[in-house]
Amino acid sequence: MIVAVASGKGGTGKTSVTTSLAVVWDRPLVVADLDVDEPNVHLFLHPEMQKTRIATLPIPIVDESKCTRCGLCAELCQFKAITLMGKLIMTFPEMCHGCGGCMAICPEQAIATGQRELGVMEQGVSRGHIVTLTGRLRIGEAMSPPLMNFVRLAMHQEVAKNGADVLIDAPPGVSCPAMSAVADSDIIVLVTEPTPFGFYDFTLAWEAFSPLGKPMAVVINRAGLGDTRVYDFCKEKKLPVLAEIPFRRDIAEHYAQGLILSELDAALGESFVALRDRLRAMNGGAYA
Ligand code: SF4
Ligand code: SF4
Repeated sequence: MIVAVASGKGGTGKTSVTTSLAVVWDRPLVVADLDVDEPNVHLFLHPEMQKTRIATLPIPIVDESKCTRCGLCAELCQFKAITLMGKLIMTFPEMCHGCGGCMAICPEQAIATGQRELGVMEQGVSRGHIVTLTGRLRIGEAMSPPLMNFVRLAMHQEVAKNGADVLIDAPPGVSCPAMSAVADSDIIVLVTEPTPFGFYDFTLAWEAFSPLGKPMAVVINRAGLGDTRVYDFCKEKKLPVLAEIPFRRDIAEHYAQGLILSELDAALGESFVALRDRLRAMNGGAYA
């Protein structure tokens, strides 16, 4: 089972939900931090690092002595990452999406493959059994989906080893990276808070993810704050609210210290165990 924990905006407690679920998970588990712009799962799970891999993207390097300026590569590239201006052939590596099309189409084999560094993927183990995968985007790198795909590949390789479940900490929002992060999931858990901003971003997330046709569930953080619009919306759209985290000062303090919410007290621990079991029930009780 692959569960993506997502939210319409940052600061809703998405990572807190992911890490709290992780420590009550009683099966082999991979936690994939796909919030590669600002990964923070490791701040809570404190994994012991096992390996770091650099993720790269293939980019074109033109051999001008072989290039006949036919322009086929420039015509093909949808991203204008390779262009022909008169007799000048130019590449813009930061705009390249690494599709490899220009290398394949060049009739003169004038384009070699270079590499652009996207960032790193760190693999570790937390508490002796939770495999953690963290994508960390290079400062200045604009595109996060290619690095996310690198982490997703490693995630599937880990699952193939022992049928582990996966918790994905998705980037906040509803942009391309967020959509990419939930693409592999069996269930999307939307974390929200019952405030006006929380409600607005929550509805955006619901609208964005709905066309994927995946089961969705809701965790309400800071319950007791704000109003009932999130609850009313869930009722109207038949979205199950699987857990509520109360709005309490000790919870905020616990989080600020980098501690795991489900370990604050017995009641919170039980609510995350119940959340885990409800997610399994939503997945038909299946473990695969
Ligand atoms: S396709 Fe090859 S030969 Fe044609 S312009 Fe591009 S690099 Fe030059
Ligand atoms: S690899 Fe693809 S995206 Fe990059 S320059 Fe070539 S055609 Fe454009």
